[in-house]
Amino acid sequence: MIPLAVPNLNGNEREYLNKCIDTTFVSSVGEFVGRMEEMSAELSGCRYGVATSSGTTGLHLALMGVGVERDDLVIVPTYTFIATANAVAHCGALPWLFDMNQDDWCIDVNLIEKALDSECKMESGKVTHIKSGRRVAAIMPVYVLGNIPDMEKINAIAQKYKLPVVADAACAIGAEYNGNKTGDLAALSVFSFNGNKTVTAGGGGVVVGNDEMLMKKIKHISTTARVTAEYDFDMVGYNYRMTNIQAAVGVAQLEQLHSFLKRKKDIRQYYKNALEDIKGISIFPATEGSSCWFSGMVLPDGKSIRDVRRVIGKLKEKGIEARSFWKPVHLQPPYASAPRTAMENADRLWDRMITLPCSTGITDEELESVCKAIYELCRG
Ligand SMILES: *Cc1c(COP(=O)(O)O)cnc(C)c1O
Repeated sequence: MIPLAVPNLNGNEREYLNKCIDTTFVSSVGEFVGRMEEMSAELSGCRYGVATSSGTTGLHLALMGVGVERDDLVIVPTYTFIATANAVAHCGALPWLFDMNQDDWCIDVNLIEKALDSECKMESGKVTHIKSGRRVAAIMPVYVLGNIPDMEKINAIAQKYKLPVVADAACAIGAEYNGNKTGDLAALSVFSFNGNKTVTAGGGGVVVGNDEMLMKKIKHISTTARVTAEYDFDMVGYNYRMTNIQAAVGVAQLEQLHSFLKRKKDIRQYYKNALEDIKGISIFPATEGSSCWFSGMVLPDGKSIRDVRRVIGKLKEKGIEARSFWKPVHLQPPYASAPRTAMENADRLWDRMITLPCSTGITDEELESVCKAIYELCRG
């Protein structure tokens, strides 16, 4: 079987894990946690990093950090993994769902200003969504597939309405924007190190940012808000820490980031060259500087999730693992009451997407057999 996306553990992972065991530093204190934070901050061009138990808990912390509270609204794209919306809900807030852009699959930036201008009022620095009476507390763009949306425009809107920007960069480690690192595109950016991401720690996340006070606050909330070693706490905190074992794997993986990114980009290019002349098929989009986390194809207009299932079944018969991709948040029952824009692009696109094998360890021969199988299918 050619798997969809499996970790590539051929660096120092084993050595660093043994070091955790030999030194007994297996829990949330240890040298690798600090290195994980430093390396993540450095690669995103930020001064500080806070390691977390997952990308989701990192997002929750980031939203708490910028002051998202119960009953607030947070602007998020509908086209994302459910964790983006869940992090908002974990704050007691509600996502305000926006349609995706068909070019980069990120939030449709033009809709944000339109919606804020026409559906909100601004009084003494507070933005209120008129219909629901809720405060709009933040904008959270998602770097879908490692693609960066028009962050200049998002930041201009955010500035106009005095809203903090938190970037869900969970699947976008190593992405660039106009040739630069992405950490300063938002007040806080959050990476995930889940097993299917470009770089894994088994599980985990890192929040990066430049504001020292804000980063200290996030570290504080993530470590049960402990003030002294004598069990003094100053608020209801969380145990959202990353363990040294996770960080040992993560550090060994980050050491290989450069080669992983190159392979991810090559894989996408391989699929693009091989598949794009099949009539009606398109390849997952990549912005300039995209980290190309996942590769895949979009079936022609008019196809649906039934066709996606059929193609996935046929590929499975040939020993190739493929899957459908994210089902948008506006179609998920837990978010039935979330306010939303019209969803023309998301509704038109999501049920024709198929992710294809794209592990960094995939060989060219394997890529060739995937493409051959797709060719045969599409001819038949
Ligand atoms: C993976 C992912 C998450 C969640 O990260 P976990 O580490 O699995 O909690 C959130 N948002 C996006 C866009 C992701 O791809």
